[in-house]
Amino acid sequence: MPIYEYVCKECNHEFMVSLTLHEVEMKPTVRCPHCNSDKVGKKFSAFTAKTSKKS
Ligand SMILES: [Zn+2]
Repeated sequence: MPIYEYVCKECNHEFMVSLTLHEVEMKPTVRCPHCNSDKVGKKFSAFTAKTSKKS
């Protein structure tokens, strides 16, 4: 399950949310767990980068 990073525009709190692709398509309202604001911006998570290669 992909993990998305969000940052709250109200209190600058950064948090992570795991959403299924189906949930993302439904454009869910994500709220800041700190101040409960829905003014959050999505960041791109490093978890989506492929790090499976080993040299
Ligand atoms: Zn907040």
